[in-house]
Amino acid sequence: MSRRVEAVVFDWGGTLTPWHDVDLPEQWRVFAREVHGIPVGSSEVPQEDLDEAHRLADRIHEVEAAAWRRGRDDHSSASLAEILDAAGVDAEHDRHHLALAAYRRFWEPHTYTDPQVRPVWEGLRERGIRVGVLSNTIWSRAYHREIFERDGVLDLLDADLYSSELDHVKPHPEVFLAACRAVGVEPAAAVYVGDRMFEDVHGPQQVGMRAIWVPHSVLPENQKVDVTAVPDARAHQLHDVLAVVDGWNAA
Ligand SMILES: [Mg+2]
Repeated sequence: MSRRVEAVVFDWGGTLTPWHDVDLPEQWRVFAREVHGIPVGSSEVPQEDLDEAHRLADRIHEVEAAAWRRGRDDHSSASLAEILDAAGVDAEHDRHHLALAAYRRFWEPHTYTDPQVRPVWEGLRERGIRVGVLSNTIWSRAYHREIFERDGVLDLLDADLYSSELDHVKPHPEVFLAACRAVGVEPAAAVYVGDRMFEDVHGPQQVGMRAIWVPHSVLPENQKVDVTAVPDARAHQLHDVLAVVDGWNAA
């Protein structure tokens, strides 16, 4: 079987968008303060209102942390709507859309696409190689596509898969097989690029894909999984993906 690379599928966070350390509990305080109508930075708020908002924030944070833990343990997926529902958030509440908007504003600075993405994806397509995205995420396809569109790269994608719409998360083999089907190539002809050893190197190698590791993310201790995977190559910057693929395709 030919080992020519015919598709490259990318992780999102820490790969297509540079790794940031994010204050994860704060995302839900921002959300919960908006549910309770407490503007950011206001000083005249009764302490009991603030306490109630922060209890809601803690509850959502715990439900979300449990969902990500399940993802690592049994590779089940979750969506933002499911997490909020399980935390007892009323999606019909008249301030719900304001709370969601505040949550998005919190995340926005951490969503910007690496400037190398467009030239790298164009380079792959010039070589006749398909481009995909497979992300472990609780966010919707629509939200992720808005981000790619804002940053001017959506038109270069052949296929994009988000675990919020799948039964499993990486590193479950089925999501990698689904990604290969979506870009229309056999796993042996597909490469995965990502920043996490367990999800992004061990995961795709299980189904016979090659894995390129982006070694810059500083994962929180509770997100690390011990695994003895060895990447097929490393990309210190996204641009290196082109040289790696050219090397494999020249062999
Ligand atoms: Mg990542």
